[in-house]
Amino acid sequence: MRPHLKDGDRVCIVGAGPAGSFAALHLLHLADRAGLSLEVLLFEPRDFSAPGPGGCNRCAGVLSTRLLRGMQALGLDLPPQVVQTPIRSYAIHLDGDLVSIGQPDPQRRIVSVYRGGGPRLAPGGGVAGFDAFLLEQAVARGARHIPVRVRKVDLDARPVVHTARASYAADLLVLATGVNSRAPLDRAFAYHAPPTEVMAQDEILRPPDWPPDQVSAFFRHPPGLTFGALIPKGRYLNISLLGRRLSTDAVADFLEAQGLAPGLPPAPGSLCGCTPRIAVGAAGCFFGERWVAVGDAAVTRLYKDGIGSAFHTARRAMQGVLEHGLSQRGFQRAYAPYCRAIQRDNLYGRLLFTCWEWTLRSPLLLRAWKLALQAEQAEPPERRVHIRVLWGMFTGDELYRNLFWLSVSPRALRGLARGLRGSPRKVVAR
Ligand SMILES: Cc1cc2nc3c(=O)[nH]c(=O)nc-3n(C[C@H](O)[C@H](O)[C@H](O)COP(=O)(O)OP(=O)(O)OC[C@H]3O[C@@H](n4cnc5c(N)ncnc54)[C@H](O)[C@@H]3O)c2cc1C
Repeated sequence: MRPHLKDGDRVCIVGAGPAGSFAALHLLHLADRAGLSLEVLLFEPRDFSAPGPGGCNRCAGVLSTRLLRGMQALGLDLPPQVVQTPIRSYAIHLDGDLVSIGQPDPQRRIVSVYRGGGPRLAPGGGVAGFDAFLLEQAVARGARHIPVRVRKVDLDARPVVHTARASYAADLLVLATGVNSRAPLDRAFAYHAPPTEVMAQDEILRPPDWPPDQVSAFFRHPPGLTFGALIPKGRYLNISLLGRRLSTDAVADFLEAQGLAPGLPPAPGSLCGCTPRIAVGAAGCFFGERWVAVGDAAVTRLYKDGIGSAFHTARRAMQGVLEHGLSQRGFQRAYAPYCRAIQRDNLYGRLLFTCWEWTLRSPLLLRAWKLALQAEQAEPPERRVHIRVLWGMFTGDELYRNLFWLSVSPRALRGLARGLRGSPRKVVAR
């Protein structure tokens, strides 16, 4: 018979970033509905109220509509002090031209948050962060926070979690350690962490004349940059860069190469600074008898909406536990198909980002595409395909598969063809 959770069973969740806290929240919600009483332990050494990298799971902190709607369904309303900025538009900077795209559907809200207590050198003191809010909610609903690092997890008949001071036998282990520290699993788990790329981030004070609700995106310069974004967060601007072989001075080089340095606070403008890893593929062997990995430690969407993936992988895994039990076969049936669907969607994402790079490299295509975007600005929202594709790629707010097929739809191709025939005009500034 397959093992199932019973009254009084202990669930150990290692890591209380979004994936760990969401796993606790989903599990407690589902257990409550099933009339099951569980002991849920959340192991997390980080103090999320501390400013700077020490209290922060280092990320740009843009929350997608899909995530916000999912949270609402779980009874989680973001407090106003946690929301730094509702994002209403993106300004795409391309070789001196500026293309401004607004939210294609006003019903789809996206916001920026801080993950920890704000920038390390914030002049105005700390801010209320997202990860602290989620952990508080998990504790308020019955989880117990154990504020220490897990040193090792052994796999005996059951997983056993070891901290410096104590050991905890678990009826179920949830691994939610992300990709920025080594997963403390014994080799018997046969777990392999996902592949990653390195990003660079910093925070600066937002200049008074900087649009308060607009993300600015930049490409190509300095060489190796895939994209760079300046994201408003209340009084601050977060700078996030993805690229190949980013130097230790990547943020300063980027500001210089894009000609942004003169308009921003003078040196030393840097208020924080970090080079976190981002997951770009799935882990190997991420579930087994009585254990499952969620969030980045398992699989996430390519480049975007990682917090949304944390929410949804945690939900699927915990639904699987309640419906199909704790065995490897149960997870294979209930959880693996969902993770494979994310991986398939990421293939479309790779294709889209590759097409985007080709467009950036071809002056003819780039001009046609800019003209197509320009022409769409005059169209009603439901007819704007290029704008919707770009918005979806930058915010992670829609499946890559949908965006890919939209980008090769007859309407999108007609727009590009008209652009190829069209005359170059200065593209509209915001
Ligand atoms: C530069 C950058 C920008 C990004 N921007 C966005 C964005 O705008 N929007 C978005 O949705 N996603 C974004 N992401 C992705 C997002 O950060 C991740 O997908 C998300 O944090 C994954 O959540 P998680 O809980 O799986 O992992 P994490 O957030 O990394 O949390 C893991 C937790 O586990 C804890 N932990 C680790 N080891 C142990 C241990 N041994 N014992 C106990 N605890 C442990 C850590 O302290 C941490 O709190 C970005 C990523 C990067 C790198």
